[in-house]
Amino acid sequence: MALSGLDIYRLLPKTNCRECGFATCLVFAMQLAKKAVSIDKCPSLSKESRAALEASAQPPIKLVTLGIGEAKFEAGNESVMFRHEEKFHRPCGIGFIIEDSLSNVLIKDKIIKINKLKFERIGQKLEVNLVAIKQKESAKRFTEVVKLVADNTSLALVLMSDDLTGLKQALDITANRKPLIYHATKENLPQIAELAKDYNAALVATGEDLDAVSGLTVELNNLGISELILETGDKPIAEKIWDLTQMRRLALKKNNRSLGYPSLVVINQADPFEEAQEAASYIAKYAGIVLIKGVEPFEILPLVTLRQNIYSDPQKPLQIEPKLYPIGQVNDKSPVLVTTNFSLTYYTVLGEVEASKIPSYIVSVDTEGMSVLTAWAAEKFTPHKITESINKLGVKDAVKHKRLIIPGYVAVISGELEDESGFEIIVGPKEAAGIPSFLKNLPINT
Ligand code: SF4
Repeated sequence: MALSGLDIYRLLPKTNCRECGFATCLVFAMQLAKKAVSIDKCPSLSKESRAALEASAQPPIKLVTLGIGEAKFEAGNESVMFRHEEKFHRPCGIGFIIEDSLSNVLIKDKIIKINKLKFERIGQKLEVNLVAIKQKESAKRFTEVVKLVADNTSLALVLMSDDLTGLKQALDITANRKPLIYHATKENLPQIAELAKDYNAALVATGEDLDAVSGLTVELNNLGISELILETGDKPIAEKIWDLTQMRRLALKKNNRSLGYPSLVVINQADPFEEAQEAASYIAKYAGIVLIKGVEPFEILPLVTLRQNIYSDPQKPLQIEPKLYPIGQVNDKSPVLVTTNFSLTYYTVLGEVEASKIPSYIVSVDTEGMSVLTAWAAEKFTPHKITESINKLGVKDAVKHKRLIIPGYVAVISGELEDESGFEIIVGPKEAAGIPSFLKNLPINT
């Protein structure tokens, strides 16, 4: 658990010798609490104090890395229970289970669909993360399917089998891909731990409840395995969420190291809508990885969108570069729409301008990522700031006319903006959805 500045100060020598570069031990302690300096800067720390400070600097939830290269996936390293306290760091991994009982044709078809699950929203790429191969047939068939999947996707792999022979053969093929082995239980613990150690692979530890999982992680740690993902088995959604929440709470608030690992949930729903609904619940609280079967975009798009919203930084609105954006084949008669540089606002306006098929310019004013009304209320979207932006961003060079379209919600600034900018101000629709018909009905020579 992270120590406060005063807790750290109690562990320091308190000689104020300044060798760390700070005037007093207290100042150094405060900097250490903010993680602005390293403990190595103080040469006079006792062995015990150093050990205590190093332990407190460890993340309460271990970072576990799976996969390699661009498809590398990381889970863990979370530091807060609630997003507004800071932010959530590692977006929940979304993975797909492929059973080896499917035909090769169906498996390839699924992998093609999985590889195509790439979306773009408000300027960010949204992608899925893992493919899990589940053994239902023989070790030989499992190995064949693992190879087939590994050859056709670069996503991180999960090897799901209770058959140590099958797992070993699959690891021989995929060890260089940093796969995740599913799973250690109290029944197979020594053998599977040996396998994970031999292949330097991460391992899922599965117990029926938190006590069982905690016991497993202690045993696995004693066997030298520390790359762990935790699971509490198949149970009703409410109980599962309780487990996930308690694991997180105990790791973060009670410094329970045996539960300080990312978690994984395998969803067992035949209906794709129920599957998506259940996955959404675990993405919100607090799964590190969810494994599902459905691979259709209608199921996955809501999940990656939800994940994007949860894992954005609440203190830093998503922003785009303040700029004059030409949309389509613009010319010097094209309409000019003014909006803010909040990503969601900009991309909503962009989508509607594109839908109108009227080539237009969009001026995104630097409002520090605030939406139209918020920026106006915070005096970031004032006639003065808009005028500054249109001058700086070269609107006068891009078009011959002198007309600007502003959002309907800030109609109140139209007079003042007209005086300050020298442009005629046209008040556009309040909602972006009204833009296509608004632009279509605008006189051509705006
Ligand atoms: S080097 Fe250590 S003992 Fe000296 S002032 Fe800094 S924190 Fe204190």
